[in-house]
Amino acid sequence: MDLFRYMASEGHEQLIVGHDRETGLQALIAIHNTTLGPALGGCRLWAYRTFEDAAMDALRLSKIMTYKAAISGLPFGGGKAVINARPQDKTPALLAAFGRLIDSMAGLYITAEDVGMTVADLVLIKQVTRYATGVPEDQGGGGDPSVLTAIGVFHGMRRCLQEALGEDSLKDRTVAIQGLGKVGMQLAHLLHQEGANLIVTDLNRDRVSQAVKAFKAKAVSPMAIYQVPCEIFAPCALGSILNTRTIPKLRCRIVAGAANNQLSEPADGRRLNRRRILYAPDYVINAGGLIHIASELEGYDRAKVEQKTREIAETLGRVFEYATLKKISPVEAADRMALERIRAARRSTA
Ligand code: NAD
Repeated sequence: MDLFRYMASEGHEQLIVGHDRETGLQALIAIHNTTLGPALGGCRLWAYRTFEDAAMDALRLSKIMTYKAAISGLPFGGGKAVINARPQDKTPALLAAFGRLIDSMAGLYITAEDVGMTVADLVLIKQVTRYATGVPEDQGGGGDPSVLTAIGVFHGMRRCLQEALGEDSLKDRTVAIQGLGKVGMQLAHLLHQEGANLIVTDLNRDRVSQAVKAFKAKAVSPMAIYQVPCEIFAPCALGSILNTRTIPKLRCRIVAGAANNQLSEPADGRRLNRRRILYAPDYVINAGGLIHIASELEGYDRAKVEQKTREIAETLGRVFEYATLKKISPVEAADRMALERIRAARRSTA
């Protein structure tokens, strides 16, 4: 894929390549759109196969952040950083070098946590730059954003149940969770409290055992999770898991989970629609973490954050309504609604 052509087709503003000779830092920062405000989005630490893989990941994820902030009514644009490194290479010096790179951008991009990064890493980065968010309570933040992401997905699931089955209770519903990481485990906890039956999988066996023990969950293999009969399938691991191979296997009524970029390609949204599976667009339902880190930048207010996170259910309701009205998939509806907010902001400043 030609990166310039991809950026032109998706409307990206910038792709910044950072390298630090002393620490060996290799980082990319993709800025998708800053119409609504500075680009806000997490940093993913991952050992990529090639430069192109890393760049494409940053570019794809940054675009989602633009749409996520727009549809959630936040005054931010979309950006995303990736650090090309193995977990064992993540040292305080490497994180400090990354912090200096962000600081050099003078606020155009604000970083936060994503896969491979923790709140503790953000604390280190914040010592170097103020353009970082998602730090603990005792440092003026709200703590781990994944808690709010899980809360948002939980409320979003209820709205999906209402839409698909006419009743929003999770009691005795079966939810299949793919990935028991920071978000998936919190979500399992909330669903168990509500009386849902859980089927879970993860590549990490300890996490699976923990969920089986704590939530009476049934464990299945990572490949088997797609075809378990359930009301809700909740992807909470990595992206591109909804595709031509997996969609025909699904035996759920709803797909609603936290993972970013769940669809392999836009046509997968229509494939789900054709199978009459209600899909909660990922960037709509998983916006709780973004709402949380955005609040920290304005002085963290937990009550407001929880309220706005609960409103994800209403946003989803508007997406489903618009999709029905226009006879399009929920993904197409969400994209159009997000773009409309950006266009309106452009018109008002023109
Ligand atoms: P995490 O790294 O803590 O957890 C991911 C889990 O998925 C791990 O336990 C991993 O072992 C498991 N996993 C990976 N591949 C798997 C597979 N093929 N089958 C089963 N399990 C697999 O990450 P997280 O913070 O919980 O985020 C999960 C997803 O949600 C990611 O896509 C992330 O981008 C997205 N997301 C997270 C947040 C947040 O607040 N953390 C916000 C929005 C979106």
